[in-house]
Amino acid sequence: MNIGRFNRYYLLFLIPLAVLTSLTFWIIHNQTMDRVTSELKLESNILAGQVRDQLNLSFAEIHSDLKLLTEHYKLHQLDSLIKPRNVINELQELWISVAEQRARYDQIRFLDDQGQETIRINYSNQKAAATPEQKLQSKRHRYYFIEAINTPSGEIWNSLLDLNIERKQIELPLKPTIRFSTRVNRHDGQPDGVIIINYLAKNLLDKFRRVTASYSGHALLLNWQGYSLVSPNAANDWGFMFPDSPQSRVSLEHETAWQATQNNKQGQLLNQMGLYTYNQIDPSGNNEAASKCNSCLWLMLHVPNQLIEVKLWRELSKTIPLLLLSFFLFAIILGVALWHREKRQAHERQIQELNRNISYEHELFLNSPGVIAKLRNEIGWPIEFISSNIEELLDYDADYFASGKVTYSSMIDSRYLEKYTQETLEAENKGSNSFSHSPYLIVGRNKRSRWIQETVHAIRDKLGKLTGFYVHINDVTPLKEAEERLTQSRDYIQKVVDTIPDPTMVIDIDSHELKLINQSALDLYNNGQAIDPEITCYRLSHKRSNPCRGQLDPCPIKQIMEKRTAVSVVHKHYDHQGNVIHVDVRATPIFDDSGENIVQIIESHRDITETVEMEKQLQHIAETDRLTQIYNRMKFDEELKNQIAWASLTNNRFGLIMFDLDHFKKINDTYGHDMGDKVLINTVDLLNGRIRKSDVLARWGGEEFMIIAPLIDTKELRSLVESLRNAVQQYEHEGVGSITASFGASVVRPSDNIHSLLKRVDSALYESKQKGRNRSTVF
Ligand code: GH3
Ligand code: MG
Ligand code: MG
Repeated sequence: MNIGRFNRYYLLFLIPLAVLTSLTFWIIHNQTMDRVTSELKLESNILAGQVRDQLNLSFAEIHSDLKLLTEHYKLHQLDSLIKPRNVINELQELWISVAEQRARYDQIRFLDDQGQETIRINYSNQKAAATPEQKLQSKRHRYYFIEAINTPSGEIWNSLLDLNIERKQIELPLKPTIRFSTRVNRHDGQPDGVIIINYLAKNLLDKFRRVTASYSGHALLLNWQGYSLVSPNAANDWGFMFPDSPQSRVSLEHETAWQATQNNKQGQLLNQMGLYTYNQIDPSGNNEAASKCNSCLWLMLHVPNQLIEVKLWRELSKTIPLLLLSFFLFAIILGVALWHREKRQAHERQIQELNRNISYEHELFLNSPGVIAKLRNEIGWPIEFISSNIEELLDYDADYFASGKVTYSSMIDSRYLEKYTQETLEAENKGSNSFSHSPYLIVGRNKRSRWIQETVHAIRDKLGKLTGFYVHINDVTPLKEAEERLTQSRDYIQKVVDTIPDPTMVIDIDSHELKLINQSALDLYNNGQAIDPEITCYRLSHKRSNPCRGQLDPCPIKQIMEKRTAVSVVHKHYDHQGNVIHVDVRATPIFDDSGENIVQIIESHRDITETVEMEKQLQHIAETDRLTQIYNRMKFDEELKNQIAWASLTNNRFGLIMFDLDHFKKINDTYGHDMGDKVLINTVDLLNGRIRKSDVLARWGGEEFMIIAPLIDTKELRSLVESLRNAVQQYEHEGVGSITASFGASVVRPSDNIHSLLKRVDSALYESKQKGRNRSTVF
C-alpha cells in the first residue's frame, strides 16, 4: 500500500474536519460568550436596581425626617420674628427625642436667616443633647448655609457625601456625612432660616456593602468626580479628601465607562475592560436632576474582562471536551475508512498490474523464438498447447500434441525426471509464480536428445489454486556443448600447471581471486585441499584480509601494472600450518585478446627460506663479538650513529659509558690467556644482567667495553656507572679473585657528533685511570 498517498488523502479530509471543528468551536464560543455576558448583564441590572432602591429608600426616610422637623418647627410657631426661649426649649426637647430615636443624625440644627445657630442638637454614643445658648455659633459664611438659604422653600438641598471635618482635621474614625437641609419661610414669605441635619452615611455605605457582597464583579460607589467612596480597594476610597496621597479615580482609570455615566443616568457598557453597569442616584430625591449633579452618587458595577473570560472558559469546559472527543472520533473513523479504501485500491491495482504482466508475458511467449507450451497441473503434466516450432526441436509436428493427452514428463530423459519433479514441487510449495529448471535433456522422435533450459510461469485460478504452467522451452544444446569443450580445455590446462613443481596460480588483477591454482600450491598452502573459488591470493598465502603493500611484501600486481612486464619480489608467506616461509615470487602478466589490457597474472613461488635463514646467520656473525657474544665494534658504531640521530630528532638524551678492566695484562701474564678470556666472558655476563633491556652493551676492543643507556640524565647515569663499577669489583672470578675496572661516561649533548661524544667519554675514562683506577668519572 502507498503510505504517502494515504497520508495525502487523510490530510485532505482531516483539514476540512479540523476547519469544521474550529468553526463549531467558534460558534459555541460566541454563543457561550453571549450567554455569559447576558447573565452577567441581568445579574448586574438586578443588583443595580436593588442598590438604587435601597439607597433611595434611605434618602426618602431622611427627607421625611426633615419634613417632620419642619412640621415641628412650624407647629411651635417659631416661623415668625419673635422666638420665645421657652418654646425653643420645648422644640429642642422634641428634636432630642427624634435624634435619639433615629440614631442616624450627627447634628440637627436650626440656623436663622443670618446663619446664627438657634438650635443645635448633637448626637453621640446613642445620646442626644442640646448645645447651650452661649456656645451657639454663627455659620453665616459656611457653604451649606449659603446653599440652603438660597434653595426655594419646600425643596431639599443636600451636600455632597464627604468625611466630617472637626477643627480642620478629618474626624476619626472616619465619619462619612451628608447634610440635608430645607428652608423655612416666615408668614410674609421672607426666609426665616434653615433646618440642617447631618446624616451619618456609614449606615448607608454599610447597606451598600451588604447588598453588593455576593456580586460576581466589583461594586463601587463614586462621587461626581469619579472618586470612590466604597470600592473593593478600600485604601483608594475618599481620595478627594486626602489630596496628598496618590489619587486614584475611576473617571481616569475607566475613562470610557465614566464618560458614559456622564451622558446617561443609568445604563450598561461592554468594552475590552469588561462589563460596566451604572446608575446615578440623587440624594435630594429629584429624579429630574440636572446632568451636572455635584451632590449625586454614582453606583458602578464592573465585571473585569478576566472574570468574564474565567466564566466563559468554565462554561466552555463543559462542551469543549465533547467537541474534541467528536473530532478525534471522526478523525479515527476517517483514518480507518481511508485506510481500508486505500488497501482495497492497492489490491485492485496489484491485480491489474498482475493481469497486465500476464498478458504481456503471453505476448512475449507467442512472439519469442523459443517453444511455448501450456501444461495442466495433473499427473505427468499433459500438454494442452504447444507452439508449432516444436517440430524444429523434436521432429514431432504440433498435431501430435493436439489430443491433449501427450504428457510432458514422457519427453524428459529419465535421468533428469526426478530432479525436474522435485524442482516443480519445491516451487509449488513456496508459492512461486515463476521459476526456472536446471538444464535437462529432452528426447525427440528419433531418440535425438536436446539440452533444454526452461522457464515456468504458474497459472492459478481465482482461489489461487495452481492449475497449470506456461513453460518457455529454450534449446541450449550448442551452449552446453561449448561449455563441455571449455571444461575439457580447462582440465587440460589444470593438468599442465599441476606438473609445475613450484606453487603456481593465476590471479584476477581486480578481485585478487584465484582463477587457477596448481596442486603444489594447494599442498603448500591448503594441505592439498581444493579451495573456494572466491578465495584471494593474500588470504591464501599471507593469511591476511587485505592485499599486500609496503616494503616488506610489495604487491606484484601493482608492480606489473606499472612495468607491464614480469617482476620478481621476495615475500614472507605462511604455509597451511602457519610456518613462515620466504618465497621468491615471480609474476608474469596475462593480457586480454586485444593484447592491450592486463587481466590476470600468473605467479609462481620459489621457496628460498634456507637462503634467507643463512643470510640472517651471516649477518649475526658479522655483528657479534666471537668471544663474548655481544655486539662488536662495527655494530656498536652503527647503533651509536642511530642513537645520536634519534636524539637530535627527538631531543631525547642518552648516556654513553666506556670502561676498561684495570691491569688486565697482569691477569693474562699471571693466569694465562684462557683465564683472561674467561674473566672477559664473566664480566660481560655480569653486566648484561645489570643493565636495562633497552641498554646496549658492546665490546669496543680488547678489555674495553661500551654501554649505550637511552633516556637517562647525568645524575641517573652517575649512579648507574657507580653500581656497575661496584658489581665488577665485588665479583669473584674463579681461580682469579676479584678484579676492578675504570669507567668514563657522559650524557649526549645537543651539539654532539660521534667524535665529540667518544672523545669526552674517552677523556673521562682516562681521568679515572689517571686518578688511580677502579673509579668512575662522569662528564
Ligand atoms: P690498564 O688498562 O689498567 O692501564 O692496564 P692493562 O694491563 O689492562 O692495559 P693494556 O691495554 O696495556 O693491556 C691490555 C691487555 O689486554 C693486552 C692484551 O694482552 C689483553 N687482551 C686484549 N684482548 C684480549 C683477549 O681477547 N683475551 C685475553 N685473554 N686478553 C686480551
Ligand atoms: Mg686495561
Ligand atoms: Mg686497554
